[in-house]
Amino acid sequence: ATPTAVMVGTGVGASRGVLIKGGQALESAQKVNCIVFDKTGTLTMGKPVVVNTKLFRSMVLREFYELVAAAEVNSEHPLAKAIVEYAKKFREDEENPVWPEAEDFESITGHGVKAVIHNKKVIVGNKRLMLEQGISVPVDADEVLAEAEELAQTGILVSIDSELIGVVAISDPVKPGAREVVSLLKSMNVESKLVTGDNWGTANAIAKEVGINDVIAEAKPEDKAEKVKELQSLGKVVAMVGDGINDSPALVAADVGMAIGAGTDIAIEAADIVLMKSNLEDVITAIDLSRKTFGRIR
Ligand code: ADP
Ligand code: MG
Repeated sequence: ATPTAVMVGTGVGASRGVLIKGGQALESAQKVNCIVFDKTGTLTMGKPVVVNTKLFRSMVLREFYELVAAAEVNSEHPLAKAIVEYAKKFREDEENPVWPEAEDFESITGHGVKAVIHNKKVIVGNKRLMLEQGISVPVDADEVLAEAEELAQTGILVSIDSELIGVVAISDPVKPGAREVVSLLKSMNVESKLVTGDNWGTANAIAKEVGINDVIAEAKPEDKAEKVKELQSLGKVVAMVGDGINDSPALVAADVGMAIGAGTDIAIEAADIVLMKSNLEDVITAIDLSRKTFGRIR
């Protein structure tokens, strides 16, 4: 393609909210034959809501959520925001509830948070975090987790003073159109994969909803990048689509990193292409534009 064609291509992209950072990015997109999608905020709305609470010992929900919110209000994670939002429902008497002070707050990326609230040790996160913290997860908690996962929900465990107290089930619906994008990509000879830090049950349920067969769950940020490299070593030209801090190593490793525009600055920084409108359809827009500018037709 001529420099003029590249300028036109990036210009058309920009006018549609697809920011292509340079000619190399535009050129690489036409060669992509494999796309790795992040789950939360990419295939799903990224606006999770609490849909259920199960407590394993008697405790007033208002008090339970006060402790959980006091810990989670310090986290940027979308699941944390969902929990704090929900906790406000128990404080409707107040306009802007003030949560108790959290001491020794710690965020464990891809796992959850811990803090000391009212002298109680509060841990909120996935099962792996509980086991790492030496908290035993009883069978009834496992059952609640399995139920949530079957419904494509994420079950978040809560322990107080080293005792597992409850499970908060959170639902983050799939974006409308996600299934169609996966199927359109297939017709363009581009295969889709899902990679997520969430658990296997939820990941598989979401993958099924959107029509993806190849899933990697419980992935740490470096595992996501590793998956991209593994696909590349099989000769695939890989695009990674993600929105979060967790995705940035994979966005960098990919032949084409695509950031969902409503995501974190770190993801946007790490990407080659930014989908400003946060539309999954724009993954196709980017590839189409590249194919038209460079390719295939010579
Ligand atoms: P994804 O790859 O889908 O964006 P993450 O890697 O951010 O997911 O998180 C993986 C899992 O870790 C979440 O599904 C959740 O179980 C747990 N987790 C992470 N952060 C938090 C938090 N602030 N509160 C509770 N759980 C969390
Ligand atoms: Mg994400």
